[in-house]
Amino acid sequence: MYENPEIGLQEYKSSKAHKDILKKYGFSIEENFLGFETAFKAIYKGEKPGPTIAYLVEYDALPNIGHGCGHNLLGTTTTGAGIILRNVVDEIGGNVYVLGAPAEESFGVKVDMANNGVFNDIDIAMISHPNSRHQLSGTTSELVPLRFTFKGKSAHAASSPEKGINALDACIMLFNSINALREHILDSSRIHGVITNGGTAANIVPDLAIADFYLRTPVLGYMRELKEKVINCGKAAALATGAELEISIYEKIYKGMVTNKILSNIYSKHLKNIGVENILEGEISHGSSDMGDVSQVCPSIHPSFAILESHKDIASHTVEFGKATLTDIAYKGMEETLYALVATAVDVIINEDILNKIKEEFNLTFKNK
Ligand SMILES: [Zn+2]
Ligand SMILES: [Zn+2]
Repeated sequence: MYENPEIGLQEYKSSKAHKDILKKYGFSIEENFLGFETAFKAIYKGEKPGPTIAYLVEYDALPNIGHGCGHNLLGTTTTGAGIILRNVVDEIGGNVYVLGAPAEESFGVKVDMANNGVFNDIDIAMISHPNSRHQLSGTTSELVPLRFTFKGKSAHAASSPEKGINALDACIMLFNSINALREHILDSSRIHGVITNGGTAANIVPDLAIADFYLRTPVLGYMRELKEKVINCGKAAALATGAELEISIYEKIYKGMVTNKILSNIYSKHLKNIGVENILEGEISHGSSDMGDVSQVCPSIHPSFAILESHKDIASHTVEFGKATLTDIAYKGMEETLYALVATAVDVIINEDILNKIKEEFNLTFKNK
């Protein structure tokens, strides 16, 4: 996987490698899952009834950097967990699904999975990501990509500016209004944007200006208010300049990760049981992940595992981080994670009460959202 990095939606060899080993262990494979060539759904139905456990698998790399996010290790870890759990479900009950989810770094196919009912018959979903340290599942930010297109009227900027409507002015007012708005939104929110079209020549009043923004918040339910405030900044700019405004969503919306605490506690317990120390608590991340969408339709965890010695720290999305996935320490982190992912699933399968509590927490979280 490391030697053959493939970027999002082009993970042909990588997805095949996962499918081949899953087939070898008796999984039936749904290819071209949801119409994505490099997505798959691998199913192993146990001989006795019981809960259905899903492991999410990623295998996309980054352009030029290769496996700088460590998805070479992520995919193999969760696929491995699926294979090990498959070896016990005939005895203890339940079913194992391994879901090949392409393009985490770009097109986020888990969003399509969540929106198309893929998790309707799944009781819990788990994934774990290579990191500097072992860290429990936390919160990620909901992300809404908003595009503001201002349409004005061109005119000679010096001899007849009164005949023009300046779309770039509207765009600049939008940025200034958003900068003022920052003081009055929840601290954890992020609004960041660029102007992708700001006119063509200094002597022409710009008749078109486009700004792309990402709005983010880790606070469940806050996006509606944040979005309304940012859109009002755009409307005010349009009114002030006379430009027309179109607002659109230009990429995928990612929902925020909501960790199921009970599930996460079980995972943590199993890591500690095998002597893993220095497990960091889950944190609030300002970044976003397509696992967020999964977590809002199915009780989920998205912890991460150590691939470095405790005194070292390497930023992800770097060549160095990718190289670290090949070390003995990374392999050890992978083994520990495999154990915890499988033991957590076993707990959920053999203890109906635990699954009921997990579902109760999930239902309470989303009751009023
Ligand atoms: Zn990643
Ligand atoms: Zn990444």
